[in-house]
Amino acid sequence: MVTNFVELICTCCDFYKESDEELECGAFRILKILVERGLVSPRDIESAKNEVIKGQR
Ligand code: SF4
Repeated sequence: MVTNFVELICTCCDFYKESDEELECGAFRILKILVERGLVSPRDIESAKNEVIKGQR
């Protein structure tokens, strides 16, 4: 079970600031719902996030 969606989703986002942790954009909310429904796994997000961080996407 994911307990920290900010850590999972936001830490590769160009808009991420630690002081804004209470803010949730639409993409964040959608991904959170998909994870909670079991339609996207945290591993899927980590994999995609690694591509973003490496500049592949
Ligand atoms: S809530 Fe959305 S815009 Fe804000 S840091 Fe997370 S992914 Fe980026």
